[in-house]
Amino acid sequence: EKWVYLFDEGRGDMKDLLGGKGANLAEMTRIGLPVPPGFIVTTRACNAFQAEGNQFPEGLWEQELAALRTLEKRMGRTLGDPGNALLVSCRSGAKFSMPGMMDTLLNIGLNDEVAEGLVAETGDARFVYDAYRRLVQMFGTVVLGLPHEPFEHVLEEYRRQRGIQNDAALPAEDLKAITQAFQRIVREKSGRDFPKEPLEQLRLATEAVFRSWNGKRAVDYRNAAGIAHDLGTAVNIVTMVFGNRGEDSGTGVVTTRNVSTGEREMEGDYLANAQGEDVVSGTRPTLRIAALKEQHPKLHAQLERICQKLERHFRDVQDVEFTIERGKLWMLQTRDAKRTAQAAVRIAVELVRERRITRKEAVLRVKPEQVDFFLHPRFSSAEVKAARERGDLLATGLNVSPGAASGVVALDADTAERWSKEEKKAVIMVRPETKPDDVHGMLAARGILTSRGGRTSHAALVARQFGKPAVVGVSEMEVDCEKRQLTVAGRVLREGDTVSIDGTTGEVFAGRLETVIPDLSDPHLLELLKWADEFRELGVYANADYPRDAKLARELGAEGIGLCRTEHMFFETERLPRVQQMILARTDEERAETLAWLLPFQREDFLGLFRAMDGLPVTIRLIDPPLHEFLPNHDELLHDVTELETRLELLKDKPEAAGLEARLVQKRRLLEAVESMRETNPMLGLRGVRLGIHLPALVRMQVRAIFEAACQCTREGVRVFPKVMIPLIAHSNELRVEKELLEAEARDVMKEQGLEVAYQFGTMIEIPRAALTADQIAQEAEFFSFGTNDLTQTTYGISRDDAETGFLSEYLQKRILPENPFATLDQRGVGALMEMGVKLGRKTRPKLDVGICGEHGGDPKTIAFCHRIGLDYVSCSPYRVPIARLAAAHAAL
Ligand code: ADP
Ligand code: MG
Ligand code: MG
Repeated sequence: EKWVYLFDEGRGDMKDLLGGKGANLAEMTRIGLPVPPGFIVTTRACNAFQAEGNQFPEGLWEQELAALRTLEKRMGRTLGDPGNALLVSCRSGAKFSMPGMMDTLLNIGLNDEVAEGLVAETGDARFVYDAYRRLVQMFGTVVLGLPHEPFEHVLEEYRRQRGIQNDAALPAEDLKAITQAFQRIVREKSGRDFPKEPLEQLRLATEAVFRSWNGKRAVDYRNAAGIAHDLGTAVNIVTMVFGNRGEDSGTGVVTTRNVSTGEREMEGDYLANAQGEDVVSGTRPTLRIAALKEQHPKLHAQLERICQKLERHFRDVQDVEFTIERGKLWMLQTRDAKRTAQAAVRIAVELVRERRITRKEAVLRVKPEQVDFFLHPRFSSAEVKAARERGDLLATGLNVSPGAASGVVALDADTAERWSKEEKKAVIMVRPETKPDDVHGMLAARGILTSRGGRTSHAALVARQFGKPAVVGVSEMEVDCEKRQLTVAGRVLREGDTVSIDGTTGEVFAGRLETVIPDLSDPHLLELLKWADEFRELGVYANADYPRDAKLARELGAEGIGLCRTEHMFFETERLPRVQQMILARTDEERAETLAWLLPFQREDFLGLFRAMDGLPVTIRLIDPPLHEFLPNHDELLHDVTELETRLELLKDKPEAAGLEARLVQKRRLLEAVESMRETNPMLGLRGVRLGIHLPALVRMQVRAIFEAACQCTREGVRVFPKVMIPLIAHSNELRVEKELLEAEARDVMKEQGLEVAYQFGTMIEIPRAALTADQIAQEAEFFSFGTNDLTQTTYGISRDDAETGFLSEYLQKRILPENPFATLDQRGVGALMEMGVKLGRKTRPKLDVGICGEHGGDPKTIAFCHRIGLDYVSCSPYRVPIARLAAAHAAL
């Protein structure tokens, strides 16, 4: 098997085999960009290595050696030759980028003799020993798994002695001494010597990179990002180029556009006289890429040209690593850049305008979930103003991942995770900088705050990917992980105190600030959603009970109301006593009287909705819950009655007794009524259509209100399409009886008003029997709407009110159920009923209009399913409407 590919043997589309980094290095080589020569060990080799119990598969080492010889020939240098040494890096790189999660070793090929030879050749001992001490440290930590601290302590000590901040300023003799100290650390802590033989270094490094695929942080990251564990990593062996050879050398990371905002400008960090990881690790304060323009305008221009070429070639924004060695620019990596949701949308739209990609591609490049970030909380401007006035603005750092969050300070990943998971606290994870093994804490936190690091630092990258608000590089903040406190702006905050961060502005506040949900007026988003609308076939409706929700839903693109629940209308304070009176009425006259009182209120409710939805359908579900929900709680009533009885006993014959007596009578009556309505299984009891049949005057009043409002609107010039929806049908006879009664009422109203409005009567499908007999039900119903909350409850036989707290969570823990069916539609079971319902229904009535109005209607996966089974529309909460529009387009493309 061919385990090894030279860069000029590979291509960009070989990511499965060569990993993303390797395939793109090959592609950059192919299109003539300056890439240092190198070769790639395949992901299959990694899998074979693991399958054989961490042994190189047959032929691998020989192929690696052969490729190395080719490299040596091309460079005219030899690994391990002190007179003419080749140095290489050994870099991990899986199919999907996992920034910093696996290992890389630089400067392989150095030992004492080679170092001296290189000093003689370059005349630059500082550079040579800087490279050497890095190799020894990386060897100790990566290959041998030693901790970083002993190495860092040595460096710190030397910096302190010289009174400097930054390793690059250490003189050659110090770096040489440090190299020796590092070799001693390796020997003492691991019991083996740093290997002097360069080929042994290369072999051990290759093995270490293979092994890093299964390192804890890589596994954690893959779990969080949903990447398969069996892909394996490739290993890239790349000729070293040196950014640490003085002021005309340097290294940087840029994205071809701004990946926070999407703006069209090259963006990133640069460090003169440094090697690659110095930029990413945040150990040295970086400069913006504009600094390169000042120092080396020609190189800056060349980099810009290359960035544009890369963007054109890969048809997307790239994230590139480069190094400049004594005035020569080298490209070391490129990949599709991670970006915020805001940037993703803007970039997709602008790439279409620049004619780089099609509208279809643009729509597919934004995930429905990303639209959600536009609804991310921000601090209201009033809150921010007040906080400033209180002097609570502590500092401003780099705004690297948008959104606002408040929470208690946790100073390490484990604490952040524990407080968030066990104590259910909102946590802000605060660190000097983050490392790949902090990811679990970052995922658990609401937001991330660091004192060091730049826009491309680890913290920024991870935060953006997972949509966590983050502020990094707050240099005036001192984080003391030992004293468990931070000092900033002359204030000391202890771990557990509350802070607020705004990843959109970079501001950090003491204390808690209230957040608000912003409006969705981003012009790029509106454009993208418009394109999505062109592609989608599903309609998108909203569940809205009040005119203001309906207005909002419409602004967000809803094409109708798929569910208006009417019960809340009975709960309003002034109405509830009348509703109770209606329920308790002893005679039809008494009931009719209270209903007549309620009618105008109900009519007002519908007027508001119809006006808000002028020209669009409004689906109104008649009253659904069991009546006892409108009455006081049984146990409380019992308690009140007993208490009144006791007090009355004591007050016997006193004047106050009369008043008490009256209250007691009333309470007893309520109690009696509640008791008479008590059901063991109210969810399976007198509710929905059953209630309508039992109390026809009530639903007749609702229908009257709907049609009176519809007529009035029509007269005002508002176009109305009421759709009356009858809930909880199990048998077509229920629907026949109910519809006859209600349609008669509707006709009466229209006759009285001398007007005709277009309307439909339809039903919810939320009981399995309704789905199973949908052909009969469609004889009566002009439309169906799947109520998947109840349908899940009745199909599974699991009470939805107890689900989350009861045994269902145990089921999920024990993996007896893969997912909570109330959160994610059970396509296999509940979905099968839906599919059957659609088919049977349309057999009777080919044009039957079918939608979904359960909680699942806003979930992208469910939306794709609804598209597949041929629904006409989905209905979801107003704020999910934009997400549903995009998800519906994805389903159709
Ligand atoms: P990661 O995937 O963590 O970014 P990389 O393999 O890209 O790891 O390497 C880490 C750092 O070392 C990067 O900044 C990279 O640019 C730098 N680097 C890797 N190989 C070389 C090389 N041959 N010459 C110079 N710098 C290199
Ligand atoms: Mg990299
Ligand atoms: Mg229901």
